[in-house]
Amino acid sequence: MLKFNDTFMKLNNKGLMKFNFIKDNKGNIFTGLYLVMIIFVILIAILILNLSIAYTELNNNQLNSKTFNYILNDYQTNIPILSYNVLENLSNNIVKNKIPLINSKESIKEELEKSLLRKNNQYYKNSGIQIESHVIYIGDGEDPFHINIKTIISAYKDNMSYNNQITSEISIENLKDPLPAIKCGKYPNFSYNDTNYNYGDSLSKYLESKNQSGAQYYTNGSSPLIIKKCIYEPYTQHGDGISMENCLENGYYHESRDGSCYFHRLEGVGQCLDYGMETFVIPNPKLNQSGLIATSSPDHVIFGYSYPGESLLLNSYSKSKSLIFLDDSHRKKYGLF
Ligand SMILES: [Zn+2]
Ligand SMILES: [Zn+2]
Repeated sequence: MLKFNDTFMKLNNKGLMKFNFIKDNKGNIFTGLYLVMIIFVILIAILILNLSIAYTELNNNQLNSKTFNYILNDYQTNIPILSYNVLENLSNNIVKNKIPLINSKESIKEELEKSLLRKNNQYYKNSGIQIESHVIYIGDGEDPFHINIKTIISAYKDNMSYNNQITSEISIENLKDPLPAIKCGKYPNFSYNDTNYNYGDSLSKYLESKNQSGAQYYTNGSSPLIIKKCIYEPYTQHGDGISMENCLENGYYHESRDGSCYFHRLEGVGQCLDYGMETFVIPNPKLNQSGLIATSSPDHVIFGYSYPGESLLLNSYSKSKSLIFLDDSHRKKYGLF
């Protein structure tokens, strides 16, 4: 009020000065009324302004708590994407450098926490929300084509806080299978393109080093680079028509007790006790003879504990892939007799 009185006095003085200047009695009365009106208008304007500021602040507080939750929900949608990117980078590097991970789960955790930290800093910069995240578990998913990652998230801003444990299921489909690169990458003539490993004589050299008979049949063999889930289920459907040829053509992977899981593939382990996957390694495409004996073609038999199988001529239209080697138990699994 003191402030307004001061203003009033100042304005009044100004008015009197004005009166003195123009020396008009009538003018003096009008100028006085005019000034009082202006002061009321100013007072009302200030009141309205104050009210509107208070209202806006109230609204902002509501918006902030809404935004807080919205931002954290948005943050959580990042976790599967960041996890997939971590897996992609790790597997790409292995294929390129042919060096396996020592402890794949530990490496995934480390890399994911690094990338979450970068994300957290970004969120802090953009929203002022402080986020802390810790990866507490990395393990098998619902099937061998998925892995599970559990993360604990805490977030703070002003008087708002948030705590949650999130389980993300990450599909490993479309990632590269690093196992063949680790096993055969050191031999000459090993190469790969966008879809396949082309072994040249690297695989036959690798099988020779394991004292496998028929190793030479795998010269110029190939196997898939990219993990794709087979569409022929139940697996006995592989025995129908050209299903098997299509499966090999597409480089599909199958669920398998003996096959290596994705974590062990990253470590260059050809078979493991986890519920894993198997795909087929295709021998030299020029072979077209039944009754040949060589290492059975499922990749865990090639890269893990090896045993022989007999050549199986496939129903084929293209003749580009005419046979694989298959032991009895795999013939049964895939309906191939
Ligand atoms: Zn298949
Ligand atoms: Zn495993």
